Amino acid sequence: MKRDTKHTPQQVLSPLEKSKLKIKVCGMKYQDNIESVAALQPDYLGFIFYKETPRHFDTKIPEIPEGIKKVGVFVNEDVSTVIEKINEFKLDAVQLHGEEAPYYCSILRSTNLLSKPIEIIKVFSIKDEFNFEVLEAFENVCDYFLFDTKGKLPGGNGYRFDWSVLNDYPSTKPFFLSGGIGIDQIDDIKNFIVSKASKYCYAIDVNSKFETEPGLKNKSILREFINKLHNKKTMNYNVDDKGYYGEFGGAFIPEMLHPNVEELRQNYLKVMAEPDFQKEFDKLLKDYVGRPSPLYYAKRLSKKYNTKIYLKREDLNHTGAHKINNTIGQILMAQRLGKTRIIAETGAGQHGVATATVCALMGMECIVYMGEIDIARQAPNVARMKMLGAKVVPALSGSRTLKDATNEAIRDWINNPVDTHYIIGSAIGPHPYPDMVTRFQAVISEEIKWQLKEQEGRENPDYVVACIGGGSNAAGTYYHYLHEPDVGIIAVEAAGLGIDSGESAATSVLGKAGIIHGCKTLLMQTKDGQITEPYSISAGLDYPGVGPMHAHLSKTGRAEFLSITDSDAMEAGLELSKLEGIIPAIETSHAFAIFKHKTFKPDDVVVMSLSGRGDKDLQNYIDYFKI
Ligand SMILES: *Cc1c(COP(=O)(O)O)cnc(C)c1O
Repeated sequence: MKRDTKHTPQQVLSPLEKSKLKIKVCGMKYQDNIESVAALQPDYLGFIFYKETPRHFDTKIPEIPEGIKKVGVFVNEDVSTVIEKINEFKLDAVQLHGEEAPYYCSILRSTNLLSKPIEIIKVFSIKDEFNFEVLEAFENVCDYFLFDTKGKLPGGNGYRFDWSVLNDYPSTKPFFLSGGIGIDQIDDIKNFIVSKASKYCYAIDVNSKFETEPGLKNKSILREFINKLHNKKTMNYNVDDKGYYGEFGGAFIPEMLHPNVEELRQNYLKVMAEPDFQKEFDKLLKDYVGRPSPLYYAKRLSKKYNTKIYLKREDLNHTGAHKINNTIGQILMAQRLGKTRIIAETGAGQHGVATATVCALMGMECIVYMGEIDIARQAPNVARMKMLGAKVVPALSGSRTLKDATNEAIRDWINNPVDTHYIIGSAIGPHPYPDMVTRFQAVISEEIKWQLKEQEGRENPDYVVACIGGGSNAAGTYYHYLHEPDVGIIAVEAAGLGIDSGESAATSVLGKAGIIHGCKTLLMQTKDGQITEPYSISAGLDYPGVGPMHAHLSKTGRAEFLSITDSDAMEAGLELSKLEGIIPAIETSHAFAIFKHKTFKPDDVVVMSLSGRGDKDLQNYIDYFKI
């Protein structure tokens, strides 16, 4: 028989409309986990009050954002108990998973014992076929149907039924699709969404396929699922497999350097994943560097700026800054790659000292290239490096500062490709350096997460803030928050004498895409592409580029970039000294100056990377304030 298609319109919703498909995450159990899943803003969270399941819910429901409906799941429970639980847990919906009769549903619907109206979801389990006639008796006594896979236990069976059964769905009541749905089914769901069977599909219900153990949901896989379901293109802020952050990064190096960089690229992730490497790295960070560094609630500073400020005390690390985290990681990497000789470049000498330190620790030869001018300006750090056994080699070409020292280091590496490892000191350089340095520094945000949880009851602050030279302390502070949209990222650059003064290092404002030290990034340059000399009172921020990750964070708007002048930074450094008894490095002082320019809410939690201590800058402070 020929069907008259004109009069049987299929009215299949377009994928766009269906992108509003609701999400229910069921089988929530643990308070922390409930909070972190709630942060993903699913439409429903399910709590199973049925005792015969490992996902049985028996604690309190924490405060969760408005707009998320709390669903109590029951199996053949007394109506009076269900009513009790609805009132006790302020449930918005009940899901009836047993053989509850239509009459049972109508009692729940009409009772005046509830403090607010609820939605009723009636579950039907499907194996390979289903007799849809049973639905009719429920049409007027519930709000939704839910189709689950028939299994031994009600719910959480982990496998799916044949969704095409729903082609014969005779009702117009919206339904939940459930049963063994996981991230691997995304394509199936997308196909389903455009099929006739999905016409009245209202929500997707997920449970066991997102668990690391019964009742414990994996937030990042859930997030990926929700984003994919809603066709949200998520931005990736980590390096991709080609070594790029968006349009920035890569490895732009002379051919003769290729074997060295390639050797590192092929090995760095493998080496870092070795349990033996991790054990040694963690142990040195603990016993030698002094980690974990404290997360300190700065009470007087918080009071002054009427917000909650926490300081991540990288200044308390051995050698006085975050740089040692990276040099420890890289010296262990060099050893695993069979290298015996270490080279490094340094501007102000901080990275030179951190490198000389780990070379002394491991008994390895250390050569530090440093511009001749910098050697004269940074005598104490030169002396430190020498005491630690390093050889400091002056760079005599060009402006005789950092970029010339870098050129010398690269030249050395080309000439010594077999036995030498080049320790780069920030999240810059050719791939894989930015990523490798970031991963070593990521210990900073890894610690912040549990430390903040201990003190504030949550892992995510409202903001993370760090100053940016090349961007290694910032990359480490942001790392575990890059893909947490509720955490604002603030990057602080040095404006020097002012953005328009010609004496500045505010790369995100003044820079354009270009190539420096082997990577494509934002870079301060003249019209014809010559690198401009940057300026900042702080030697560690006096760099004409930023790491490629930060260029990407700036370009995409993920991070807010602020620039701070010399004078604002110096005042902020003095203020922190007087308010908290902590003299910060001048680099770090830049980050503190943002409180004069940006207002935070009283209950905002702002975590600031206190990247280093001010001992090395004492003479600068003395000269500036005529102390
Ligand atoms: C070197 C240094 C910086 C800048 O380097 P990043 O790689 O951007 O972190 C910031 N603060 C201190 C204390 C430093 O020594």
